[in-house]
Amino acid sequence: MADVAVVGSGPNGLAAAVVMARAGLSVRVYEAAEALGGGARTAELLEPGHLYDVCSAVHPMALASPFFRAFGLEQRVELRLPEVQYGTPLDGGRAALAYRSLERTVAELGADGPAFGRLMRPLVERVEGMLDVTQNQLLRVPRDPLAALRLGLATLSQGGPWWNRRFAGEEAPALLTGAAAHAVGALPSLVPAGAGLMLSTLAHVGGWPVPVGGSGAIVDAMVRDIEAHGGVFETGVRVRSLDELRPARAVLLDVAPPELLGIAGDALEGATGARYRRALEAFRFGNAACKVDLILSGPVPWAAPGLAAAGTVHVGGTRAEMAAAENEVAAGRHPAKPYVLVAQPSVVDPGRAPAGRHILWTYCHVPAGSTVDVSAAVTDRIEAFAPGFRDVVVDWKTTTAAGLAAYNPNYVGGDFGAGAMNVPGLLRRPVVSTVPWRTPLAGVYLCSSSTPPGPGVTGMAGFHAARHALKDVFGVKVPELGPA
Ligand SMILES: Cc1cc2nc3c(=O)[nH]c(=O)nc-3n(C[C@H](O)[C@H](O)[C@H](O)COP(=O)(O)OP(=O)(O)OC[C@H]3O[C@@H](n4cnc5c(N)ncnc54)[C@H](O)[C@@H]3O)c2cc1C
Repeated sequence: MADVAVVGSGPNGLAAAVVMARAGLSVRVYEAAEALGGGARTAELLEPGHLYDVCSAVHPMALASPFFRAFGLEQRVELRLPEVQYGTPLDGGRAALAYRSLERTVAELGADGPAFGRLMRPLVERVEGMLDVTQNQLLRVPRDPLAALRLGLATLSQGGPWWNRRFAGEEAPALLTGAAAHAVGALPSLVPAGAGLMLSTLAHVGGWPVPVGGSGAIVDAMVRDIEAHGGVFETGVRVRSLDELRPARAVLLDVAPPELLGIAGDALEGATGARYRRALEAFRFGNAACKVDLILSGPVPWAAPGLAAAGTVHVGGTRAEMAAAENEVAAGRHPAKPYVLVAQPSVVDPGRAPAGRHILWTYCHVPAGSTVDVSAAVTDRIEAFAPGFRDVVVDWKTTTAAGLAAYNPNYVGGDFGAGAMNVPGLLRRPVVSTVPWRTPLAGVYLCSSSTPPGPGVTGMAGFHAARHALKDVFGVKVPELGPA
């Protein structure tokens, strides 16, 4: 038996395993699926030679994550930046584009450029302080209170019905809303506003890169590091009980709260155990995604210049149209004109598709548990801003929300955020605590994105859980994590 058992090999489970193995402990990672990597796997979903990211594709969060910076991700994996970080098409062949250079972005946004600059510049200047707030649990004194204040004020300004007050045109609001709508929720509201501002800020700092070869390259780098430090993996094993893991001295669970209840519910005894169990039972999930992956015979024929060079395109029209689509989902309906998140990985990394071909990675938000195939609505939405798009589609594959839930037990109902993205959902993740990764069971930690800082390939939930486990159980500090 190993000193440490990690259940689940998503980015958070692997981050926890890296930290524990680097500390000299023997580590065994159990994964329910046949392949390692959770939400960061890359696979040939349609035809050989076409490499799709099954879940995560674009990695501003990994690039900025304190864990991945300590791990030296950039030295281990080639993270390639597009020329345009992200963009939003508007009618009449217009587009709003976010470049890595904030000044170029401001210059091309027209009359609203200066207002966009005034919103973003204070955040870009204090990005480290913002990361300290957003990559941790919220109940703590921020290291850079001014950064926290600036983020709070900007979030308020973009998270309520007054969100257009500083803007006159359509471009800047559409650019901001495209990023905000990454967080599944009603618009305007605080959590999407904060998440969107964080993502927008990162576009102007490190950028929104894609890993050469796909997100699986990130998984491979972590797996290699764990193996180099003695860790071992068991795939095809869905852990159902703590008894399967004992006598490991520390157990780190990269699982969703219902799975934690199944694995450890019986052991939650006494008043504290009962309280924790009730919190897990009351844990709320959010709405979901339906993914559509396509093979194209050529690039997307975007009407607007600039989008051909974008890594990510937010297809949803104006701010008002994107909000209408997201509010339909929040009300439990499938919007006729959804907001579609599009990544063009083969534009940035041509090796993802055979010569002459392109791959397109898309998804849109749908109500939890949906079994609806949204591929026709997705195609229509892209066609509206890229006439002739249908003619370049060779084949596609839809994964419904129910399909995502079946693919990964952490995506309950297809919620890839592994927990509602609203204020209660961020504060109670899964409990209100200064150490929310700790469970009442000695040596047992929750390290999935159902804990802070929530979704995204950051490894930070795994890192925080591991750092507490190291201290509580083994009395040691986080070791050096960088490449040898
Ligand atoms: C369509 C889609 C697009 C996304 N796009 C992006 C993006 O572009 N950028 C980004 O940063 N993030 C993106 N995400 C989110 C990102 O993938 C997740 O936030 C991230 O993978 C969460 O990591 P995790 O380690 O917490 O859990 P996961 O990656 O979900 O991994 C959990 C693992 O645990 C395993 N497991 C669960 N229960 C058990 C058990 N009992 N026994 C054994 N194994 C178990 C699961 O099989 C799974 O492999 C996207 C997600 C989806 C679905």
